[in-house]
Amino acid sequence: MITGRTQNLGVIGWPIAHSLSPVIQNAAIEAAGVDYNYTALPVAPENLAAAVAGLKALNYRGWNVTIPHKAAIMPLLDEVDKAAEIIGAVNTVINDNGRLTGYNTDYLGFMGALNSRKIDLAGKTAVLLGAGGAARAVIWGLLQAGTAEVVLAVRNPAKAQPLAEEFSPYGKVTVCHWTEDLCAEQLKKCSLLVNTTPLGMTPKVEACPPVDWSTVNPDAFVYDIIYTPAETRFLREAREHGHAVVNGEEMLAGQGAEALKLWTGIQPDLGCMQKALRKALS
Ligand code: NAP
Repeated sequence: MITGRTQNLGVIGWPIAHSLSPVIQNAAIEAAGVDYNYTALPVAPENLAAAVAGLKALNYRGWNVTIPHKAAIMPLLDEVDKAAEIIGAVNTVINDNGRLTGYNTDYLGFMGALNSRKIDLAGKTAVLLGAGGAARAVIWGLLQAGTAEVVLAVRNPAKAQPLAEEFSPYGKVTVCHWTEDLCAEQLKKCSLLVNTTPLGMTPKVEACPPVDWSTVNPDAFVYDIIYTPAETRFLREAREHGHAVVNGEEMLAGQGAEALKLWTGIQPDLGCMQKALRKALS
């Protein structure tokens, strides 16, 4: 029940009506029995600074940040956590009595699905298909886990090269064109293959990154960060070629769980958040 003591949380973005965060967060809040309420807050780009000042004035305990504000909000905060700074995106803000700190929990959500399966990437090679905004959090998570080499397999290597260079102080990040021989060699030895492109996402479900499964290490774990549909063509092909697979639902619920933990100090029920997400998606 919402009372005068209920603390407010939310998600700012533009547009925001499609956001699944209220469903996931309120499911976990209810399951934990804590006194918080989480809503979707539409904030147009030109209103970002006013919205941040407003949320602070209204004493919101914290909020998530989604497209298009993840980078733009950074200069409006008092402090940005190191991981968020390096990733270049804030998806979670905590308001401690008027002091705003930005975090990135996307990389923790991404890694959660690997950690819960005890997939140890220390000293191993990971191949990422695509090198856009989401890939930044994935690269950071993998380098933090001790991955020996993160290979960005893309359609446009010249565009991805600056990203690889940006992360090179933290580990080995290389780039290849995803149909060239060099890429096939990396696929042969990789322990993890991740799709970070939107190829295969609803409604264009027949799209798929160009992977020749005969060249992929048969023991590689395959991860698609897309969550609609639940099984992309990429994941279906991986499964049919004998790979263990996971989709992006756990990453999405996981980043939400890490944010709720930061705001409330509770350990949210990830299973309950995933269940609420799956129900909302179906
Ligand atoms: P983005 O910044 O637009 O980057 C997309 C990447 O995919 C870029 O490298 C882009 O290459 C490449 N790409 C796009 N269309 C392509 C095509 N037709 N052929 C070949 N490559 C293509 O997108 P994003 O924000 O990283 O999001 C990517 C996906 O991740 C989306 O499906 C999103 O829903 C999903 N996602 C999931 C979660 C989760 O929690 N599970 C979180 C964030 C994002 P170019 O640079 O050459 O265009």
